[in-house]
Amino acid sequence: MKGQAMNTAPAPGLNDTHDPLLQSWVASANTPETDFPLQNLPFGRFRLAGDPDWRIGVAIGDQVLDLRAARVIDSNDMNRLMRLLPEVRRSLRQAISAGLRVGSAQQDTFKAALHAQSDVELGLPCEIGDYTDFYTSVHHATTIGKQLRPENPLLPNYKWVPIGYHGRASSIVPSGTGFHRPNGQTKAPDAERPSFGPCRRLDYELELGVLIARPNALGQPIAMADAEAHVFGLALFNDWSARDIQAWEYQPLGPFLSKNFASTLSPWVVTLDALAPFRAPFGRPEGDPEPLNYLASPANSSHGAINIELEVWLQTARMCQAGHAGDKLSQSNYADAYWSVAQLVAHHTVNGCNLRAGDLFGTGTLSGPNPEQGGSLMELSSGGKRPFTLSNGETRSYLEDGDTVILRAYCVREGYRRIGFGECRGTVLPARTLDQQTL
Ligand code: MN
Repeated sequence: MKGQAMNTAPAPGLNDTHDPLLQSWVASANTPETDFPLQNLPFGRFRLAGDPDWRIGVAIGDQVLDLRAARVIDSNDMNRLMRLLPEVRRSLRQAISAGLRVGSAQQDTFKAALHAQSDVELGLPCEIGDYTDFYTSVHHATTIGKQLRPENPLLPNYKWVPIGYHGRASSIVPSGTGFHRPNGQTKAPDAERPSFGPCRRLDYELELGVLIARPNALGQPIAMADAEAHVFGLALFNDWSARDIQAWEYQPLGPFLSKNFASTLSPWVVTLDALAPFRAPFGRPEGDPEPLNYLASPANSSHGAINIELEVWLQTARMCQAGHAGDKLSQSNYADAYWSVAQLVAHHTVNGCNLRAGDLFGTGTLSGPNPEQGGSLMELSSGGKRPFTLSNGETRSYLEDGDTVILRAYCVREGYRRIGFGECRGTVLPARTLDQQTL
C-alpha cells in the first residue's frame, strides 16, 4: 500500500491529544484492542431508552460521554457543532481529552455523564441534508470497467474528473438496521422484455463517508487550501447496490433505484484531527497526468492521503445461528484511493455548488490493487461468475437473505496509538411480497 510504504514526516496538526502514552480514568479506553482510546474521541449521536431526543456523545472505550451533561457544550444539535470553526472544534477536542485523562479535575462531572455504549441507541451521527457518492478507487473503477467494457475498462475522464452522482439522503440508515431486498426492474441480456421482482444480485460497497463541517455560500467555491477546514471527519459507509437493477437502469443518467433503497452509515465520526498521525503523501503512478490546478495543492501532495485499513466481514444466517462471528472477505487501505478528501470538496464546489454542515460524501467502493482486495462482491465473484466458498462450506456470489455485512476500519502507525472506527453493520431481510395487481 503506497501510503504505508513511504516513511515521511506526519502531517501538521499533531498535538498532545495524540500522545500515545495518554491514559484515561475510563479503564476500557486503555485496553490495546479498543477502537476508542483517549487519542480517538469520535463524535456521534445517542439516546437513552424512553427519551426521543438525540444527544451528542463521544466514544471512549466501551462508554459514551454525553457532551452536554459533561458541560463542554451547551446544545444537543450536532449539525450546529459541525459548523464551528476548525480552531473551536480543536479546542473542544482538547477539553474532552483533558477531562478524560487520568488525574483530571473534571473526573466527577464527566463520570456522571458516561453511559455504557451497550445501554444506549446509537443513531446517524447528524442530520444528513444531501448525499453525493464518488468513485475514487481506480482499482474498483478498472475492475468494474473490465466487466462492462473489456476493451476499454477505464473511461478517458477518470484521471481528470472525480466522478460522482447525487444520491439520496432519506434512505441512509444507522448501523444495525435491517433492510428488505429491493424489488425492481431487471432485464437479462437475451430477454426481449424486462421483468419485475426481487433483486437477485444484491451487493455491498465498502466505502468511507466524509461528513461536511462548515458550509460554503452558493457561488463560492472552496479552494484546495481550505478544503479540509470544511470536513468534520470520516465514518464507515456501506452503499448497498442492486447490480441487476443497476445494469438495466444506469444508462444514460447513472444509478437510481439500484442505490437508494438503503445505505448504512456507522455511528462514530472520526475527526480529521484524530487522523492527523496517519496522513501520508498523495501521489499518482508514474505516467499519469497531473490533476488540473484547482485540484492540486502542496499540502495535498505532502499529506493528502490517509492510511486507514478497511475490512469487510460477512456473517451468514447459518453462521449467526452457530455463534460464528463471520468471515473476513477482503481488506484494503484508503491510502490507495485516486482522489483525496480535499479534492472531492474542491471539485464538488468548483462550479459554485454550496455544501452544508452534515452533508455526506461517499468515497465510492474502496478496492485495493490486488483482486482479493475488491470492496464489493461484484469484484470478488467476477460479476457472479465465480462463486467462492466460506469457512463453513456455504458459497456466495451475491448476498443471500439473512446475510449480515460488517465493515470495520482502523489506523496503525509506529509510535502512535491505534484508533478504530467501530462497525458499520447491516442485515439483508427478504424482499417484501408485492401485490402484482397493483403494479
Ligand atoms: Mn457507491
